[in-house]
Amino acid sequence: MRTPIVGLHHITAIASDPQRNLDFYTQVLGLRFVKRTVNFDDPETYHFYFGDDVGTPGTILTFFPWPGTPKGRRGAGETIATAFSIPVGSMSHWRERLTDKEVSTEENVYFGGTHLSFNDPDGMVIELVEHEEAHVVSVPRFADVPAKYAIQGFFGTTLLEQSLTRTDALLGIMGYRKLSEEGNRTRYEPEGDARGRFVDVVVDKNVQTGRMGAGTVHHIAFRASDDSAQVDWQQELGRYVSVTPVQDRTYFHSIYFREPGGVLFEIATDAPGFLIDETAESLGEALRIPEWFEPQRKLIEARVQPITLHKAKSEATKESEAVL
Ligand code: ZN
Repeated sequence: MRTPIVGLHHITAIASDPQRNLDFYTQVLGLRFVKRTVNFDDPETYHFYFGDDVGTPGTILTFFPWPGTPKGRRGAGETIATAFSIPVGSMSHWRERLTDKEVSTEENVYFGGTHLSFNDPDGMVIELVEHEEAHVVSVPRFADVPAKYAIQGFFGTTLLEQSLTRTDALLGIMGYRKLSEEGNRTRYEPEGDARGRFVDVVVDKNVQTGRMGAGTVHHIAFRASDDSAQVDWQQELGRYVSVTPVQDRTYFHSIYFREPGGVLFEIATDAPGFLIDETAESLGEALRIPEWFEPQRKLIEARVQPITLHKAKSEATKESEAVL
């Protein structure tokens, strides 16, 4: 019996300005900068990881910040919204916080839940949804968002497609069942209570195909509990779609395939995780590159833009200082 896919592992998107991207996700949304590394397929460009305090699977939003890259176009075969869970009762805090930081918001109701929606600096759509998560996250230690309001990892993701049929079938093979339908939006959920488990598919048969670029999602990754579960899924999904060999991404192992509507899917393992090459305290502070690129470190460091990590004081840090 295959180990089920329980939800999202990470989402990877494209940004145009490394510093602006870093500042928005750490200082506006209060996420932890979990890893400063390079794109393993293009090692002279960054790969940034944001998440909870240690980059727990299901909390991780990652970016390829390609300086000056043109904006993408929203369209079919793309992920059009990335939703995070926030604690029940924290919506007004987030509405005010975003307004204070000059981020304009709007609210949409899907399946009875309010999605507070806004754009990141590249125009990527982020949503915050009040949702009680069964599993707690570790609150980022260098964020000024009060712990009781901290982002709790992913709520889910929204795909835009020209047709539902074949995407529906593939999600079914992946163990996602149809939860509800509302207009042209269908919500899917796998078994269990893991975070990041909702996948919405919005269908518009007339929408043009999307174009990748700044502000668009590059791919979404689902969770495999371990390497053997991943191989089982590689074999099973390989009967329907073309699946890549397993790739070593240092912090997890990955396989990739394109769902029939065009969205790039990945299945990533929970292990080894982000503490493999840094301590929890120092995550994100130094450029980490896999050992096979170490001989090129000087060249890589010269090519990527210098960035500054601003670390806010968390409530817990302020309290411990007050005691002293
Ligand atoms: Zn990925």
